[in-house]
Amino acid sequence: MTSVTLKGIEGREITVQTGLFINNEYVTATNGATLEVENPSTATRLATVAAAQSEDIDRAVQSSEKAFGSWKKVDPTVRRDLLNKLADLIERDAPIIASLEALESGMLYRNCLASNIPVATGNLRYFAGWADKIDGLSLPIPQGVAYTRREPIGVCAAIVPWNTSMIFFWKLSVAIAAGNTLIMKTSEQTPLWGQKVAELIKEAGFPPGVINILTGFGNIAGQALSEHPRIRKIAFTGSTATGRKIMQAAARTNLKKVTLELGGKGPTIIFDDANFDNAVFWATLGITHSNAQLCLAGSRIYVQDTIYEKFLVEFSKRSRDAVHGDPLLADTTKGAVSSKAHLDKILSYVERGKADGLRLLHGGNKLSGDGYYVANTAFADVDQSHAIMREEIFGPVAGIAPFKTEEEAIEKANDSEYGLNAAVFTNNVNRAMRVSNAIEAGTVTVNSWGRPNANTPFGGVKQSGFGRDSGHEALESWLVTKTIKYAVLE
Ligand code: NAD
Repeated sequence: MTSVTLKGIEGREITVQTGLFINNEYVTATNGATLEVENPSTATRLATVAAAQSEDIDRAVQSSEKAFGSWKKVDPTVRRDLLNKLADLIERDAPIIASLEALESGMLYRNCLASNIPVATGNLRYFAGWADKIDGLSLPIPQGVAYTRREPIGVCAAIVPWNTSMIFFWKLSVAIAAGNTLIMKTSEQTPLWGQKVAELIKEAGFPPGVINILTGFGNIAGQALSEHPRIRKIAFTGSTATGRKIMQAAARTNLKKVTLELGGKGPTIIFDDANFDNAVFWATLGITHSNAQLCLAGSRIYVQDTIYEKFLVEFSKRSRDAVHGDPLLADTTKGAVSSKAHLDKILSYVERGKADGLRLLHGGNKLSGDGYYVANTAFADVDQSHAIMREEIFGPVAGIAPFKTEEEAIEKANDSEYGLNAAVFTNNVNRAMRVSNAIEAGTVTVNSWGRPNANTPFGGVKQSGFGRDSGHEALESWLVTKTIKYAVLE
């Protein structure tokens, strides 16, 4: 199978295998099907990789089934040690993985290194710790005794988006700790770092077929996984629209278990008793970090009317000074967005805001260069009914509005079909608790934003989906409980 050599951080040459990773080998896709990977920072072709067809999904399922036969019998400490070993290798090769992610996604190299890699290794090590602690219960029953076994589901699949490599590790670490075999489909836009991780999976010593990694298009490979009658569970992170299709496919075929982590339209609520500088810092980061191509982006900012105008001035000041360009360079503070189509989508919201006469605080334009750069943009005084407040833009476009009372802030925050992530800024501990309890979201952070932790569950409510990544709770969705009953004979 072929490979491609790219230039990463400090000109370092990085060779990446371009085939499908099945049975610990890289193989070509059926009929030699391929897909092109673009560098969004330069709008040039980066690589050509294999594009899995439905026949390839069958091959991966066969490999996973075969592997599961022995994998389910290995001592859990083997799973623990392999996950820890993989974390070590990822740490060793962090500059390579972060370079690849920066090149294909436009995300800043230093953010890949400082955020994504520690989340990856943190989750691998956290779930390595759980692998040998998956216990059942002993239950008294009138006829004797019962006990439960928490068993792996079997052959599972995961489909992940392009916006951050964290999600891949959220799913892989827990799926494998629970004793399943896993077929992972990476995003067609960012398959390269996953190809490198596949090499490390083999180097760590995972048996062939325990983890298969496939590159491919959503409507071919993703759909074939969702419909496959011998895949028992599918874990998905991506858009709400695709989540719906996956659930329908599972319902149409074998009723495989589905967990969905979908879109978000996160509220950031700032009360006038908050530490102002801290609130401005996190509110800015929440809608500019990684161009807000994050499901947990704080894209609706509600500020108490008493500090509203002051906030607008400071927020705007901080959001304007981005230096856009090559994500591998240390001076760059803003990368490109993921693709031309995505840039056009973001700009269409910006144009809509302008056309509707919204108060443009800053930005509102494409930035110079061949790549897909868009200025940090903010609209103030945005009505709750406007698309800027209702739809997930997945770009650095903030909608800001004032509120008077705590009740009004909660009402506005909850006035959304999404419910993934929220941030609340206040120094009043009682208010912090009241508001956090009242907000409809999977995660509420007080006086900060973002920063996922391996031991805290992450996922949504409402149309942000169901199921959790990270934390002990995530284990449950990768296990099935079997009850064994003993009747004691007289
Ligand atoms: P997407 O839904 O277009 O694609 C995600 C993945 O699904 C890709 O691997 C794609 O190939 C695959 N896919 C596409 N069509 C498919 C189909 N018909 N059947 C099966 N698979 C298919 O999303 P995206 O543009 O890659 O990612 C952005 C979205 O992801 C945003 O909506 C964002 O909010 C969401 N997201 C959610 C979380 C979370 O944890 N809740 C995290 C990150 C991103």
